[in-house]
Amino acid sequence: MFGISFNAQSEKTEKYTQSAQHIVLPNNASAQINIKIFDFQPPIIDFSRIDKHIFTKVVEDEKILKAVGDREYLKTYREDQDGNIRANRVDFEPIVGRLVDVKSLPLYGKTIIVNAGHGYYKEENGEIAVDTGTKTNGKAPEWIVNYDNSMLLINRLRELGAKVIYIQGAMREQHNTVKIELEEMKEFGKINPDMFISLHINSLSDNTTHHGSEVFTTAISNDSSKTFRENIKSNLQKNGYKVASKSRDLGALNSSIENFDIPSVLFEYDFISSPVGREKVYNPDEREKYADVLTKSILSYFGVEE
Ligand SMILES: [Zn+2]
Repeated sequence: MFGISFNAQSEKTEKYTQSAQHIVLPNNASAQINIKIFDFQPPIIDFSRIDKHIFTKVVEDEKILKAVGDREYLKTYREDQDGNIRANRVDFEPIVGRLVDVKSLPLYGKTIIVNAGHGYYKEENGEIAVDTGTKTNGKAPEWIVNYDNSMLLINRLRELGAKVIYIQGAMREQHNTVKIELEEMKEFGKINPDMFISLHINSLSDNTTHHGSEVFTTAISNDSSKTFRENIKSNLQKNGYKVASKSRDLGALNSSIENFDIPSVLFEYDFISSPVGREKVYNPDEREKYADVLTKSILSYFGVEE
């Protein structure tokens, strides 16, 4: 089933959702603690007009909770009736000012899937575990960075009138919850997304100087994906970024392309294995700049020039 909450867990979910809507994020205590752990604050999220976050269970593992800090949508995980872990998912509506006609916004009518790379899965012994992504040597783990970067992008896209579907889950071969989510979306046909973008950070184990962004499509990518890829590349270059665009086989990305025939790319911000890349990825101002460039690229893909 999809989109309906009906079991004992739903009460927990309900409580969680309601309290989440009343949390004031900017200056609360846990956000302060969080800065100390990761050197940067999680993005502020407008909790208004968000569809119910269903099938969620509250994470109880202390270590995971400490890592997650004040990130609302990582404090829970999704589980289906059979006990399978599902990708975390939140459907965000546009953010519209009181006197603004949503239809006048440039991305009105568009639904964009923003996939924050890596996340929860279940071990064979039934315990909740995290595919944290690439090694970050004591810095904030990739899945957390990806979450924050996704929220920075999502905030911008919602303000431009788009609906945004945030998906985050394990992307390992055995546990590709993102792929499953995309397949189910298609099966139930309720969602007609217009674009898919997966956000990651990169690292190399044997090279500490290589840096720059990478935009990936796959061997089976459609022309719209390639256009979107080159769009991001040129927007980054215009803003002084070093960037390569490449083709690679990527499970979740493949399935978005196969299922929906929409522009789909995977974006790697930079290599945290190099000092230059690390500075870019972990600098809050830089993170805002990336979100701006990605937003510009999305706008120009849809033919909106600023
Ligand atoms: Zn990754």
